[in-house]
Amino acid sequence: MKTEKDLRALLLQIDGRGYKAYKDIRGSYSFEDYVLSIDSVQGDPFASPSKGRIIVSQDKARFPSELFDAPHKKIALCDFLTRLFSKNIFKYYHRVKGSGKSGLLVIDSPGQEILLRTSIIINKDKVEARFEVGLPASGRRVLGKEAVKIFFDSLPIIAKYSLYYKNLNTSYLKRQIDLAVDQHFLRNEMQKKGLVAFIANDSTLPRESGISDKPMLKGAVPFKSPKSLEVEFHMPKNGKIKGMGIPKGVTLIVGGGYHGKSTLLRGLERSVYNHGAGDGREFVITVDNAVKIRAEDGRRVEKVNISPFINNLPSGQVTQEFSTDNASGSTSQAANIMEALEINTELLLIDEDTCATNFMIRDEKMKALVAKDKEPITPFINRVRYLYESLGVSTIMAAGSSGDYFDAADNVIMMDEYVPYDVTSRAKEIIMGTTQYMKHIDSNTFSHLDSRVLLKSSFPKSDRGIKIKSKGLDTILYNKTQINLRYLEQLVDTSQTNCIAVIIEYISRHFLESNRTISNIVNHIYDIIDNKGLDALSTFSGHPGNLALPRRHEVIAALNRFPLLRIE
Ligand code: ADP
Ligand code: MG
Repeated sequence: MKTEKDLRALLLQIDGRGYKAYKDIRGSYSFEDYVLSIDSVQGDPFASPSKGRIIVSQDKARFPSELFDAPHKKIALCDFLTRLFSKNIFKYYHRVKGSGKSGLLVIDSPGQEILLRTSIIINKDKVEARFEVGLPASGRRVLGKEAVKIFFDSLPIIAKYSLYYKNLNTSYLKRQIDLAVDQHFLRNEMQKKGLVAFIANDSTLPRESGISDKPMLKGAVPFKSPKSLEVEFHMPKNGKIKGMGIPKGVTLIVGGGYHGKSTLLRGLERSVYNHGAGDGREFVITVDNAVKIRAEDGRRVEKVNISPFINNLPSGQVTQEFSTDNASGSTSQAANIMEALEINTELLLIDEDTCATNFMIRDEKMKALVAKDKEPITPFINRVRYLYESLGVSTIMAAGSSGDYFDAADNVIMMDEYVPYDVTSRAKEIIMGTTQYMKHIDSNTFSHLDSRVLLKSSFPKSDRGIKIKSKGLDTILYNKTQINLRYLEQLVDTSQTNCIAVIIEYISRHFLESNRTISNIVNHIYDIIDNKGLDALSTFSGHPGNLALPRRHEVIAALNRFPLLRIE
């Protein structure tokens, strides 16, 4: 293998030459304590930055194996090291100057959620950091001496304080791993107790602002469970914990405007993922297959059976295999529910604020005026019990305005100045004798059939083949076709979006002749990830790009919104 001396000589040799000369530095170099691998070199100073890795063998890195002997611990450890590496770039690196992306030095930057990523890989043999670097240039000329500063002055120090166990704040690290162990425990125990969600007392649910996902620090009212819903867990690492357990079934979150309903629901939505220490949602846990349901006017729908909710459209369109390029509020919401059932979910999360009203409810006066056979919609209220009792799918719904749901609810929680109260029995008293609800339940059964077979024609090639890439959090481009992910509220990280793009590309390469259903294909891909890691999705050897694992729900949701998707 080439040595660090070779790299230094090379960089000085190409100093001042045209940018393309950087291509020569691709390859691996042994440094004193690690191997530096330069996997891809950008074509010019303005292009996406170059990709490299630092690989430290475990006889030097010396991470105790009990820190990564289970998937949840490994994810927490790699998350910790990614954040540390990023922090150390800020601490030890002074950006060298130059044109375009010159001098950029970054590793993937996680938000509040702890996700499986490709940024740091650890196993019993090695720990490996994947970074991006803007190779420095003046105009389009190589600044070799500046590149030497990055590779020989800064990266070795950043590596030293990020990738060797003895140099870390090990007690802080242990606390993060312990937290992951407890979260893993809670996820399992919660299910055993028949809960779909748990919110520990003293959790902080509100966020800093509409655009920041960090916790609200000043003035946040800590969460406090009503006594009747309080449950206790004895966690392996952090001892006893109490909080509100939301049982399976139908749960309403009611309360006046601005009293914290949506904030609570949003906390639950996000807590399909684990959160890091200090987030305020460390011990807020929601079953990990929970799906947020909302209206999504304008979305595309491809052959989804929405007939449990929508029938007899005036256009005469069949709703057993409903397709549209421009769904209405109610048809989009129906499709969102049916697609969620297709992937398998135990819990729907619904906020009245983002629902189509006609999908949720029809009041008595409207029923009297518009005959049932003129109304295509069977509102959600008539289906919510069936979903639970026959299909085992619970619902948690934030609702400020429609008391009709009291009848369908197992539990009613009222938010009052950000504090929850159990008002179930009061809600039941109020509706006693007044309700028409039972009469209006739609007793037609339905089930979801996993029969949506992906057609090869979904992935047309242009003259230049197939190019799929992500743009920010909520857009994926397939050649020139946009997939709009704006309303996937449980997609939380740009690297997840990137990963979805990579998965779609993977499908286009491997699964087109297979005649399999969408969920079958996506499940198969998750088996591959489970066995071989996220790196297995990439066609490159070396740095696979910044990928973070989305849930299979968001992957399928992206496919379902893909304008070119064709189902048999
Ligand atoms: P609702 O859905 O009931 O109308 P929201 O959940 O939107 O209310 O909350 C309204 C405002 O109150 C938001 O700005 C939110 O940040 C703030 N808020 C929510 N929960 C808390 C809390 N526990 N402590 C302090 N402020 C909160
Ligand atoms: Mg609200």
